[in-house]
Amino acid sequence: MQYYSLNNNAHKVTFSEAVIKGLAPDRGLYFPESITPLPKSFFENIETLDNVEIAYQAIQQFVGNEIPETELRDILADVLSFDFPVIEIEDNIATLELFHGPTMAFKDVGARFMARCLGYFNKNNENQVTVLVATSGDTGGAVANGFLGVKGVDVVILYPSGKVSNIQEKQLTTLGQNITALEVDGVFDDCQDMVKTAFLDTSITEHRQLTSANSINVARWIPQLFYFLFAYKQVKSKGKDIVFSVPSGNFGNICAGIVAHKLGLPVKQFIASTNINDTVVRYLKTSKYEPKPSKATISNAMDVGNPSNFIRIQNLFNNNFENLKDLFSAYSFDDYQTKQAMKTVFNNTGYITDPHGAIGYLGLKEQILDTNDYGIFLETAHPVKFLDVVEETIETTMDIPSQIQKVINKEKKSIKINSYKTLKEFLLK
Ligand SMILES: *Cc1c(COP(=O)(O)O)cnc(C)c1O
Repeated sequence: MQYYSLNNNAHKVTFSEAVIKGLAPDRGLYFPESITPLPKSFFENIETLDNVEIAYQAIQQFVGNEIPETELRDILADVLSFDFPVIEIEDNIATLELFHGPTMAFKDVGARFMARCLGYFNKNNENQVTVLVATSGDTGGAVANGFLGVKGVDVVILYPSGKVSNIQEKQLTTLGQNITALEVDGVFDDCQDMVKTAFLDTSITEHRQLTSANSINVARWIPQLFYFLFAYKQVKSKGKDIVFSVPSGNFGNICAGIVAHKLGLPVKQFIASTNINDTVVRYLKTSKYEPKPSKATISNAMDVGNPSNFIRIQNLFNNNFENLKDLFSAYSFDDYQTKQAMKTVFNNTGYITDPHGAIGYLGLKEQILDTNDYGIFLETAHPVKFLDVVEETIETTMDIPSQIQKVINKEKKSIKINSYKTLKEFLLK
């Protein structure tokens, strides 16, 4: 399998090059040259397959022969060592819980898969890399945890000071070893811009091989398609049409869902549920893509004004606006609506959503579901990661799971930076 840059179809690289480079030299995102549907029998028999088998069959074509079968299966078994349950909370409305991993965020799967791929590509110390990543919240923790101790990989995480939750901050600033956290005086988009600039700065890249662990990296982005297959396996026997509502920020997760659809997964509709950072919602109304600076919300992992993966989604629909609108819809909700949804769900069902999941729930409610539709919203983070806002909103207290307990009392270590220049100095040191 080869990957091309979305800025230049002629520039093609292998999977390992795409993973190691992150972004193409022309700043384009890498995109698979082809997507071959899985055989019908795969979907007919999916309930008889275990998660590692499902994942192997789904991702094999994207990895090609660069990681041998045994190693790839070992990587997947290691990455997928926790559950992905679908929990029904109302008639025909369920949540797909993606937060049972080590940092309790859905990003654990992508981060762990990418880390193990890079570890494999660097097994003979040939490909020493620095992972440079910007986070609006959960990426940092998942990446830090996934890459901790991976040989040949240094990790540098940029996060917006004061704009991630206390637990998120602890998860990315307390690990040490090969992980460094840079605390940026600015918003997420500033962090992301600095990262993108560094990739193009030859005075840095001549010294260090930089790569990205944001969902622009194919090894972070593509494995997310597993979630949609795992959900299908659990609800297939209901015999209903499936609608997924995906809380979206950089649109990597929902884009991976659409790849799963291209592989043959029967899905009736994808709903991108966003907070007030509504660039895609406006796009669907006007057909004009007009990014805006991001605004801070209580669903901070989605505070993205210019979602990097949207260009991949457009590509999956051959840049045809009408085709996109047939399968894909988008809605935006503010913090007040988010809190109301958290309260309603809790009071009616006893289920605790986090602010991101609550927005996913609202997206499902906005789209009028047919009686024969089964709506699944993705719970992308455990509510405890947003402890203050969740406890205050639903007026209850939550137990702290052991994964979080472990980091909460550790000492934060970060380096403050306030400009691209200070980032560069750090990377050249
Ligand atoms: C990253 C994140 C999202 C957004 O995912 P994208 O793939 O960037 O759209 C949603 N919820 C949580 C909790 C996240 O951490």
